Amino acid sequence: MSVRLCALFAAALVASAQPPPFSNLVRSFIKIDAPVVALTNVRVIDGTGAPARQRQTVIIRNGNIAEMGDSGRVVIPDGVTPIDLAGKSIIPGLVMVHEHLYYPSGSGVYGQLGASFIRLYLAGGVTTMRTGGNVNGIMDLKLKQLIEQGAQPGPAIDATAPYLNGPNAFVQMRDMKDAAEAKRHVAYWADLGSTSFKAYMQITRDQLRAAVEEAHARGLKITGHLCSVTYAEAADIGIDNLEHGFLAATDFVSDKQPDACPGQGAGQRTVAALDPDGAPFKALVRKLIDRKVALTSTLTVFETFTPGRPLPPGLDVLLPELKTQFENGYRRTAQNTDSIYTTLFPKALALERAFVRAGGTLIAGTDPTGGGGVVPGFSNQRQLELLVEAGFTPLEAIRIGTLNGATFLGRNARVGSIAVGKQADLVVIDGDPSTAIADVRKVETVFKQGVGFDPAKLIASVSGRVGLW
Ligand SMILES: [Zn+2]
Repeated sequence: MSVRLCALFAAALVASAQPPPFSNLVRSFIKIDAPVVALTNVRVIDGTGAPARQRQTVIIRNGNIAEMGDSGRVVIPDGVTPIDLAGKSIIPGLVMVHEHLYYPSGSGVYGQLGASFIRLYLAGGVTTMRTGGNVNGIMDLKLKQLIEQGAQPGPAIDATAPYLNGPNAFVQMRDMKDAAEAKRHVAYWADLGSTSFKAYMQITRDQLRAAVEEAHARGLKITGHLCSVTYAEAADIGIDNLEHGFLAATDFVSDKQPDACPGQGAGQRTVAALDPDGAPFKALVRKLIDRKVALTSTLTVFETFTPGRPLPPGLDVLLPELKTQFENGYRRTAQNTDSIYTTLFPKALALERAFVRAGGTLIAGTDPTGGGGVVPGFSNQRQLELLVEAGFTPLEAIRIGTLNGATFLGRNARVGSIAVGKQADLVVIDGDPSTAIADVRKVETVFKQGVGFDPAKLIASVSGRVGLW
């Protein structure tokens, strides 16, 4: 079959990606909206890990990638003014899986900032995301719906239910008593539309098992930021995903009691001392791979705990009080030369690299929690830079932040890579992130379903007020 026939066949098979009618608010952030868009002379980094292709023309029709090939070969449809992207690149819209619509605003309280965060995520190039736990109940689901309806700008969202946890100290998190309650929690939130679940640090094995069974019975996935349950136990129970690389593993704590969290610090001291080539680590990696458990890298949040690291990007969008609060914390971190993170952070990078080199599936997120400073959109770009620091090539890092996430979420038939027939979720970058990953910060336009959004306008609309809403 010729390339052209293949393309037509693929186009016939896929649903139209045509976006919904947009509200005036959403319209105010759009800079390119036409039934047919032609991008010419662009470098295509397709998200599969394949080498960049130079001087390509991409035709977007009704929200889908209708045609792609060498500029000069691909014919620009009559009446369409091409957009010349010479010297620029496109990558797939980012697909990030440990995002939140809340932020640590003070004194153990997490402010509900979803309304501004969805704009920042989109501006940063994120067109699909999973929230990795919520502490508000309904906002994740509601914003997901409003975005789908065209009433709000933002990425497509896989909305997680509120956390599944045992008795804990968070004022915005439930204390489950038993396995029956875990099952009811999953059933209730799945019925409301949650498409993902997150187990947390004090859950018991029985509760986790009940939650996994109920989620899987509904065709849904469950992840965990664990402590009371080890990674190996969770893998045997059937969890789909584990958060924070290996930094939440308590598998190596010698006096670990079943179903009890020995403290995150106790686990992290053992992880900091792990040998990536040693038998205990290799056995855990083997189990995760055999059980098909994906691992989420959230290096961005750990970087903010580590002395000697640069200030994270995007702080200027924060409410001045929140910016100052983070900067004060940053100064304290810088002075804490005894911090475990001095050894733990580089170890985190090495362990994630070892996991992937052994055949494990790594996906990426940012986790805008900790002591603040992980700013949506900006931190998604930073996460790709940190993957490169961990030893991945820029092409591998981009794949981890796009196609790997889409595949895990079961959305890879439509998004996650740049290919004819797929939805036109594309980030236009003024540079070449296949050779200089820091160029991912130079986002010029974010196409979602073929509609081009203006990142500068999205950011300006919330700048200095992120913290209020
Ligand atoms: Zn998180």
